[in-house]
Amino acid sequence: MGADHVAMQGTSRSMSSRAVIRQVEPGSSAMCARCGAAIKFAARSQQRQVIANVYVDGTWVRVEHYHAECYERAEEPYGPPAG
Ligand SMILES: [Zn+2]
Repeated sequence: MGADHVAMQGTSRSMSSRAVIRQVEPGSSAMCARCGAAIKFAARSQQRQVIANVYVDGTWVRVEHYHAECYERAEEPYGPPAG
């Protein structure tokens, strides 16, 4: 999980939850936080996932993974994903 933690360096602003959209990589074993299914790499389909760093009271608490489509259907709970 550590590699997915997208840290924001060099800022003293309070941290808030944010999301990024990424290509699913081979060997990914993340589970979608919305539908619960595995987010699987598929060579032909350019599968994308949304990775959200979730902050509570300015403190990072966890990473959530979503199928890009599930994140949209969840109405972007952590805002529009950055590329
Ligand atoms: Zn999903």
